[in-house]
Amino acid sequence: MVKKVDHIGIAVESLDEALKFYEEVLGMKLQGIEVVEEQKVKVAFLPIGDTEIELLESTDKEGPIAKFIEKKGEGIQHIAYRVDDIEKALQEMREKGIRLIDEKPRYGAGGAKIAFLHPKSTKGVLVELCQRD
Ligand code: ZN
Repeated sequence: MVKKVDHIGIAVESLDEALKFYEEVLGMKLQGIEVVEEQKVKVAFLPIGDTEIELLESTDKEGPIAKFIEKKGEGIQHIAYRVDDIEKALQEMREKGIRLIDEKPRYGAGGAKIAFLHPKSTKGVLVELCQRD
């Protein structure tokens, strides 16, 4: 039911510092930067093939990305899979006994509808479901 890897979310201390690696070393192109207030995060989008890398810098030391870095250091924070109908996908996950972080979709970067599944139900990976209209 998931269609593709929509994006990979990577927690970084500083977008400016991280972009030096992604742009200057890997040669990727920055498409844009967006602040998602609700998540206390500033996101840089770097498309690659038919997916993208999202670099996540916390805008608040109490935010989820700051907490993640505090615990685990910089690195891959989540993997997002594209779905056609996120409400339906969440219902299916519920029926399959998967623990949800978000009972209802919310808005993420780029206006996507997103919802997270709990890593306890997904073999340790924070999984995001993502619908783009
Ligand atoms: Zn994401």
